[in-house]
This record gives sequence, C-alpha cells and structure tokens, in this order.
Amino acid sequence: VFTPAQVAQAPEDPLFGLMRAYRQDDFDKKIDLGIGAYRDNNAKPWILPVVRKADEILHNDPNLDHEYLPISGLANFTSAAQKLILGADSVAIKENRVTSLQTISGTGAVHLGALFLAKFHPRQPRPTVYLSNPTWANHNQIFTNVGLAIDKYPYFSPTTKGLDIDGMLSSLKSAPLGSIVVLHPCAHNPTGVDPTQEQWKQIASVIRERQHFPFFDCAYQGFASGDLARDAWAIRYFIDQGFETCVSQSFAKNFGLYGERAGAFHFVSGPGAEAQRATTNIASQLAILQRSEISNPPAYGSRIASIVLNDPKLYAEWEHDLRTMSGRIIEMRRGLRQRLEAKGTPGTWDHITSQIGMFSFTGLNEKQVQILREKWHVYMTKNGRISMAGLNTHNIDYFAEAVDSTVR
Ligand code: PMP
Repeated sequence: VFTPAQVAQAPEDPLFGLMRAYRQDDFDKKIDLGIGAYRDNNAKPWILPVVRKADEILHNDPNLDHEYLPISGLANFTSAAQKLILGADSVAIKENRVTSLQTISGTGAVHLGALFLAKFHPRQPRPTVYLSNPTWANHNQIFTNVGLAIDKYPYFSPTTKGLDIDGMLSSLKSAPLGSIVVLHPCAHNPTGVDPTQEQWKQIASVIRERQHFPFFDCAYQGFASGDLARDAWAIRYFIDQGFETCVSQSFAKNFGLYGERAGAFHFVSGPGAEAQRATTNIASQLAILQRSEISNPPAYGSRIASIVLNDPKLYAEWEHDLRTMSGRIIEMRRGLRQRLEAKGTPGTWDHITSQIGMFSFTGLNEKQVQILREKWHVYMTKNGRISMAGLNTHNIDYFAEAVDSTVR
C-alpha cells in the first residue's frame, strides 16, 4: 500500500531558497547575485524594448485566440528557432535532417532530450551521461529522473580559474565508447568559462574518436558575446563535422521571457541516405513523448519570439537589445576587476573579465560566501558563483568593499 506518511521531506531548491531569503531581508544595501536573470542598472527586471513592440503587435492581432498549439508547437517559431541556432544556411536544415519541437523553455528541452535518449537509445544498458564538473545543478536531476546514469568530466580548474582542457579531454577519452556528453556551447553555467574554438576542435575530435553523442544545452545564445552566430559556433562546428547531436535552446535569457517558458528541442541526424527517414521517425516518437508530458506547449512566449525572429527589422532591434544586456554585463566585469585590483584585494582577479556570460565563478569559498551573506547582505550561491547582472553602478562599490573585507 502507498503510505503517504512515508514520503520524506525533500530539501528546498538551493537557488529558489536563496531568492526567498533575499526577499525577506530588509537591509537597504542588500544585493542579489543569485539567480541568473538579467537586471538593469537599477537592479530591476528589464522588458526588452523589442518584446514590448512584439507584445503590442500581438495584442492588436484580430485573429488572436486561445486555441491549442500543435503538439510540436508554433511552426513559425520552431523553424525560426532552428535557423537561429543552427544558422540559416545550415546544411542539416537544407537536407531535412533536423526535427524541432517547442518546449517548456530550456529545462523542458533538456528533459525532452533526456527522455528521448532514455527511451530510444538503442543500447542496453543506456550509456552514461557525462556532465561538466561543475554544471547547472538541474542537469543532475533531469537526467537521473528519466533513469539515465550520470558521471562527471573535469571542466573548471580552481588554480587557473579557467578551463581544465587536459582533464576534460582525458576524461572524455577514458569514458566508455558511445557515452552521452552534455556540453554548454556558450556562457557555461556556473563558471562563465568557455572553450576557445581551437579547444572545441580538440573536444570534437575526442568525441568523434570515442563515438560519443554530444548533447548541447544552449541557454545563453547572444548573451555571452552579444553576437548570436559566435555564441552558436560550437554547435554549428559539430554539425559541419557530420555529428549526430541534439540541442536544447532557451529563450528565457536572450528574450527576457523567463516566466513564459519559450524554448525548443532540436534533434539533428547525421548526413547520409537514411537521414531523412530517421528524422521523420524521430519526430513521430518525440511527438508522442511531448503529447504525454505536456500535450502541447504554451503559446504566448513563442508568439512573441516568433514575431521578432521572423521580421528583419525587429530582429535587428533584438540584436541591439542583446548588445545592451551583454554590454552592461561586460562593463560590470571590468568595473569589479578594476576595483578589486585597485584595492589590492588578495588573490588574482583577471578571471572576472576573462569569464563570459551571465555568471562569474569568483573563487570565493563557502565560508566567505556565508560571511558575505550574513555580514554584508550579499546573496550568491555557495559555490561562489555570482550573477554579474545583479551588479550595477549603484552597488558595485559596496560589493567590491564587501569582497575585499571578506577575503582579507
Ligand atoms: N541550461 C542551463 C545551462 C541553464 O543555465 C538554464 C537556466 N538557468 C537552463 C538550461 C534552462 O533555463 P530555462 O528553463 O529557464 O530556459
């Protein structure tokens, strides 16, 4: 019999717990560097100007209704999303070997991919999923919840505060043949450390040699460098090399559509005579999985993104908005490094500017994070990760002072 009283209490999600603690703190100089959501220079959520425009277009549309979307989502959205991430001239798109579904943002896309691999990967037992150490915490539970085993590959070097490329490559070399390897194509969460293009080539070559399956999780396209194509370079490179792969794509950060849950999952079959048939079959199975999980995805966020992505003028405005966000973050990186170096804060701080995207892995340890929270009312995750977007010209001096005092 099922005895509800036997269900143990689960711990609170650390990140959402941190947000709650921040909200309850009434200190006037408190700083939220926890969640990876963009904030403007007044620490306020930012509705992208282009999203406001798309919203107006949407609301003036006399044909708008609240009917269900198709199982695979809004077709204008998924086709634009595909071009956005794979490139409009992608050979895989031309050869009809990509299938795409709209998902519940990036999380839903990773989940759908994980579920698909758990059900349809031809090998028994299923291959292990290799995650970077560290990675976005949710990866662990998304893959284990569908019954896949997970393991780690080294990624971050605490000494250089950069990529441990040798550790990563040797671990991928010794992983069992045909493993699944989850890769962050840009703006790695939580470290902000990305491989260079040369390093991506080395990674691809080991993945090829070991017949691993690359699974790209892309949550920050356009956010890392401000350049959409550059941030998708790794994915496009792998596809050009003929890899079979899948991609999860989030529109939460780059459109500021966090709560609207707009995302897409793409499965790309490798080139060859079988590719089109394989892609059609995979699409049919993904549709059944999607139907049983969410039936069909939510409409609003995908309508907004679709309006922007399919209109060249709005698309250009969106690129401008992306540069506003990535530019402000880059400025905060410079400002923080400069302040810490000027104070002579013990340690090196060049990693603050060499890391990229929403996050910086500061190197602050758990004890220091605790002091920052208790004494200074600065909220960040225990691993020393800060969301750069939480800094602004009003609080950066206070934050630098807090770090300086804590580190000494
Ligand atoms: N993958 C990574 C690596 C992320 O950092 C995030 C956002 N924190 C996601 C996926 C998914 O985010 P969302 O579901 O909000 O799109």
